[in-house]
Amino acid sequence: MEKDCTFCKILSGEIPTAYLFENDIAVVFKDIKPIAPVHLLIVPKKHIRSVNDLTADDGKIVSAMITIARDMAKKLSIAASGYKLFFNVERGGGQVIFHLHLHLIGGWK
Ligand code: AMP
Ligand code: ZN
Repeated sequence: MEKDCTFCKILSGEIPTAYLFENDIAVVFKDIKPIAPVHLLIVPKKHIRSVNDLTADDGKIVSAMITIARDMAKKLSIAASGYKLFFNVERGGGQVIFHLHLHLIGGWK
């Protein structure tokens, strides 16, 4: 739990947010400003600032995040049509919330 981190506040319940999925490693919720018909965020429970800060021990978390995204795409019926998964890394990469998260966007007609 990091002070002043929006996603830590969501994880602690300080910012009430509906989860579409939760397990021991990560949660999934809708992006508040979607840039596609489907825009979800896969957020690990562990506070990690960005991809730059990943350690070898975090490999399990990253692979779980990708697998969860894959499963959510299937659940929302956008797997066959296709989708994008991406990490914004630090300010120059467009990251504005410094708690690791994977974007899942798709659902275009
Ligand atoms: P990034 O630019 O990769 O750091 O993405 C952060 C994302 O978090 C943006 O797409 C925001 O729209 C989204 N976001 C910010 N606050 C919230 C919130 N309270 N609930 C859901 N999504 C949020
Ligand atoms: Zn955090």
